[in-house]
Amino acid sequence: GAESNGSLKCLSEIPEIKFTKLFINGKFVDSISGKTFETIDPRTGEVIAKIAEGDKEDVDLAVKAAREAFDCGPWPRLPGSARGKIMMKFAELIDENAEELATLDCIDAGKLFDWGKKVDIPGAAETLRYFAGAAGKIHGETLKMSSEHQGYTLREPIGVVGHIIPWNFPSTMFLMKVSPALAAGCTMVVKPAEQTPLSALYYAHLAKLAGIPNGVINVITGFGPTAGAAISSHMDIDKVSFTGSTEVGRLVMQAAAMSNLKPVSLELGGKSPLIIFDDANIDKATDLALLGILFNKGEICVAGSRVFVQEGIYDEFVKKLTEKAKTWVVGDPFDPKVRQGPQVDKKQFDRILTYIEHGKREGATLLTGGKPCGHKGYYIEPTIFTDVKDDMVIAKEEIFGPVMSLMKFKTVEEAIKRANATKYGLAAGILTDNLNIANTVSRSIRAGVIWINCYFAFDNDCPFGGYKSSGFGRDLGKQGLDQYLQVKAVVTPTFDGKS
Ligand code: ADP
Repeated sequence: GAESNGSLKCLSEIPEIKFTKLFINGKFVDSISGKTFETIDPRTGEVIAKIAEGDKEDVDLAVKAAREAFDCGPWPRLPGSARGKIMMKFAELIDENAEELATLDCIDAGKLFDWGKKVDIPGAAETLRYFAGAAGKIHGETLKMSSEHQGYTLREPIGVVGHIIPWNFPSTMFLMKVSPALAAGCTMVVKPAEQTPLSALYYAHLAKLAGIPNGVINVITGFGPTAGAAISSHMDIDKVSFTGSTEVGRLVMQAAAMSNLKPVSLELGGKSPLIIFDDANIDKATDLALLGILFNKGEICVAGSRVFVQEGIYDEFVKKLTEKAKTWVVGDPFDPKVRQGPQVDKKQFDRILTYIEHGKREGATLLTGGKPCGHKGYYIEPTIFTDVKDDMVIAKEEIFGPVMSLMKFKTVEEAIKRANATKYGLAAGILTDNLNIANTVSRSIRAGVIWINCYFAFDNDCPFGGYKSSGFGRDLGKQGLDQYLQVKAVVTPTFDGKS
């Protein structure tokens, strides 16, 4: 493992990468085609490692292993609490390797190393523990039914699951999807995003060390239209859980429908409003607004990308926000002083800069930022636009970068109407001490999570997912487990007429 003496913190070299192959049936193997792809360090644009490129035939092998583990293996047949014990061991191994895992996510995705080591990775282990505890508490119901029949429901694992995950939170996403499926007794094929394959392979290794049987977790690294599409259209996968763009979510659902009608859950894009009322504390409000758009370089589906500020505090808010944005430190994510690392890849970097140009062309005022920073790597300045109109592209489309659209409003009704004027419905934030306003707005906004006087308040116990084009299904919480369980009703006559 990596040393914990702080020597890694200003690391500019790439550590040894131990796992670069597909993980099928408990073994690391080359892809059938023998092809590989390069994973890139966004701090420099340089190649980190060559990774096995899985395609349809590799997905077939992984599904075969998962099917066998489901139909004949011990995992679905163990008592839930026994699965929980093994999951606890897996969590312990994650904690022990937090530094190395945080390093992998840092070089692969440009995520802050300290945050990864202290929050992301331990948090991922906690998700595993949360569902480990739930594994022994899966119950059906007894049904009284009519006078002639009685019955009960069984909650059975849904079967072989396909998880297709994005690059912005490689560790959080991996465990958010894998943990409830493990608890339910499912077996699975995971496809990490092609931008960030490193930690997923490391988790596969740790799962094996923890004693999770072969075939239960398989990891296929590779691209979306090939490996990803092979999962969503597979005839022998029983459920697909997807997190990513709305555009690809649509393709996944279509492929699921056209193949074996497997149920899907989709956690997609967002354009979340943060609504700040006149009575809000300006210092706290500006801090939250900045964090809301700059956390994880804006590469987060619940980014507070539309900030609505009530007219009474608008001018003061803008002044303070600008001052703070200018002190926000962008740079190497290994440096503990840095708050924002590079965007994940060249494609996202270019895409964000194109949106910034759009904003300028459409007449929004660029308050601060707007340019790349540094000579190499994919760094972008914290960027704030004012005078943004609801129908501008930057107010409507998900940018997935450090770009805030700031808008002024007058009344509660106006705030609700404009906050809802989006095809998305993932999250919303409300800052006010007025209980009536907080209640009214939280009930009126069509989004899966409403944060009152906070933002990004995630918890394993809190279901997470979207309304409208942000998708459906919920990760985490009780609902997160339900996604991986089938309901079977068993019915019998109450009296057989013989006695
Ligand atoms: P983003 O636009 O944020 O990169 P995507 O939605 O493209 O996110 O990617 C999320 C995940 O979906 C990744 O693992 C990616 O490889 C996968 N993916 C991309 N295209 C497809 C597809 N056509 N079918 C299935 N999965 C796909």
